[in-house]
Amino acid sequence: MNEIFEKISSYGHEQVVYCNDKNTGLKAIIAIHNTILGPSLGGCRMYPYQSDSAALEDVLRLSKGMTYKASISNLNLGGGKAVIIGDPKKVKTSELLKSFGRFVDTLNGRYITAEDVGMTVEDMEHIRSQTKHVTGITQSLGGSGDPSIFTALGVFIGMKAALKKKYQTESFDNLKVGIQGFGKVGYYLSKHLFEAGAKIYGFDVDQERLSIVCKEFGVTPIPNGDLMNLDLDIFSPCALGGIINPQTIQSLKCQIIAGAANNQLLDEKRESKTINDRNILYVPDYVINAGGLMNVANELTGYDSSKATKQVEGIYDTLLEIFNLSEHQNLSTIEAANLIAEKRIQDSK
Ligand code: NAD
Repeated sequence: MNEIFEKISSYGHEQVVYCNDKNTGLKAIIAIHNTILGPSLGGCRMYPYQSDSAALEDVLRLSKGMTYKASISNLNLGGGKAVIIGDPKKVKTSELLKSFGRFVDTLNGRYITAEDVGMTVEDMEHIRSQTKHVTGITQSLGGSGDPSIFTALGVFIGMKAALKKKYQTESFDNLKVGIQGFGKVGYYLSKHLFEAGAKIYGFDVDQERLSIVCKEFGVTPIPNGDLMNLDLDIFSPCALGGIINPQTIQSLKCQIIAGAANNQLLDEKRESKTINDRNILYVPDYVINAGGLMNVANELTGYDSSKATKQVEGIYDTLLEIFNLSEHQNLSTIEAANLIAEKRIQDSK
């Protein structure tokens, strides 16, 4: 069998579209994983991938994750994602973005795009000039603006659910929370935690981002390697995927892992087993970081920030359901989340 088809089938995708435009230099892949619950929605990531196969792997993995994220969040959306190959700082132009928008338009709404790593709200406007199948545009154009604010709120609410499960309290007073990455989500999350009385520790490779949160929210800076060895109530990965792996997992001293980063576990099955054995409560990433998706999804029906906030608050109950299912059926929390997400898709067939 053709090896690309083999890969696509192994992830269970419906459609993968390669986009090539010689005039603008655009090389992009759009992956539509599943549209049973509705049109596929997911961000467009621009990144200087080392190879075409690395770009394909990333877009397949990320779009599958969006199917689960939409399902567990009770949204009538499917999973999709796009990647543009190239360094956004060097080769991103308005013409290239418009070209991408024209490719999105050819899919007639089967894929709806949004912002992701390497893209900005302004970039979405260039894409929007060529297709209406875009979310995450500025509020001045009737959009929902920056999704990170809602993602951070969802992570904060998800931490409360985890505290309830682990400590039978929702109080952050004097709790030690370690954050890796103070970007858009990490910044807003620190604000919530600071206001709730938590002691925040953290690291960012970007010294400027780190000094902002140290100044504004009293964050104690910790060298990166040491952050994961620190005795923490909550470790919150808000930078990179794959951060929980065989090299890092044994040194973790936290009680709870709850953060915004996608695909935190390098190998879902292997890492979740070790986490369970070590009695750490892992909050499934695609459940706790769904606030941004809930917010942009609202644009499709006419944006309403109070409706979006209510949906984000629902992350609390969804997580308690997952924790209980995991306990009663002796599953890892990620297995329990997958089960609920897959059931909703099956039931709607
Ligand atoms: P961002 O790019 O604004 O911030 C990431 C931060 O991590 C940056 O400040 C960067 O300097 C820092 N960083 C990079 N490598 C690091 C390392 N090795 N150690 C410590 N810090 C490092 O991204 P964001 O929008 O804040 O998103 C954070 C994570 O959450 C990403 O994994 C993203 O995919 C995920 N996520 C974001 C949203 C959203 O709404 N923005 C939604 C869902 C998931």
